[in-house]
This record gives sequence, C-alpha cells and structure tokens, in this order.
Amino acid sequence: MKKRVIRVGLDFDGVVAYNPFRVIRAPIKWFKREVLGIHKLTFFVPKNWWQRILWSVVHESSVFPAKGVDLLREMAKRDDMEFHLVTARYGFLKDNLENWLDKYRVRNLFKSININEDQEQPHVYKLEVIERLKLDYYVEDNLDIVTFVVEKTRAKIFWIYNFMDKRHEYPFKFLYLGAALEAIGL
Ligand SMILES: [Mg+2]
Repeated sequence: MKKRVIRVGLDFDGVVAYNPFRVIRAPIKWFKREVLGIHKLTFFVPKNWWQRILWSVVHESSVFPAKGVDLLREMAKRDDMEFHLVTARYGFLKDNLENWLDKYRVRNLFKSININEDQEQPHVYKLEVIERLKLDYYVEDNLDIVTFVVEKTRAKIFWIYNFMDKRHEYPFKFLYLGAALEAIGL
C-alpha cells in the first residue's frame, strides 16, 4: 500500500533563510499600533521604483540558510514527505529569490515554489496557497500571519519565534527550522 505523503509548506524569509535584521519588525509593529493607531493587519506593498529598490535591498539581507536546512535536505529524500516553498515575496523579488535558491542548492528540495506574483497581502496569499496545496503543515515566522491563518485552515501552523516575541504563548513554537522539522518528522 502506498504511504500517505505529508505535505509541508515552508515560508522563505525567517524560516528557510535566516535574516538577522528581522527583529526590527517588532518595533515597527509597535509604532504602527501605538503611535499611528493602526490595528488592522496590513503589509506594506512597494508601489514605485525607489520603494522597490529599497525593498530589494532589505531582502538582500536574508543571506544565510537557516539552522535546519541540512535536516531539510535529508527529509526531502523521504518518499513520504514533500516540501513546498510558500513566500509572500512580491514578484519583482523573484530573480533575487531564485539566485539564492540556486546558490545554496535548495531549489530542488521543493516540489513547488510559490511566489506572490500579484502582490496580494501576504497573509491572504499564504492562506490561499496553504488551502490550494492542501498542506498538512505550514511553518511561518511572522506571528501576525500565524494568528491570521491558524483559525482558517486545518493545516497545522508551526511558528518560528525570535527573542523579541518569545513570550507569546503558542502550542507549536520553535526557535528555528530544524526544531520544527524534527517535530514534523517524528
Ligand atoms: Mg517570513
């Protein structure tokens, strides 16, 4: 009998790629909520050329493969597991992303690579892909996105936290990709 395949979705920035600058998100979030009084979940979408250049530069800093990419290589060989990359990176960052995936030889570990070409809001896009691919697991580092999708899908949402938001209670929280993969691979 054929074994059931476990379908795992991984976010890129902050999950597959480790970005040392991602902690700046916490103070920006605080500023948006407390100073500007914005409570709605919305993400910035760069609209013109200079905003796009700035955005590209910020994303160039996602330089290192996260702790756990070696384990991902091992698990991707298993015939009862498949991995899908789900990134809300906007379409104009596609080349940058593909170069990175080739450079670290991780592109082939994924059965599909899903990029937010139409520049939808990241949380909306990710939920849509989770549902379309019928993922069993999705690993995400942005707490706002975790909170948004977890109530709307049957997929198990694993959260990669950082030291700024580590006090937040969540049943499936992990410090890095490898720890989340270990829990999935059991
Ligand atoms: Mg992320």
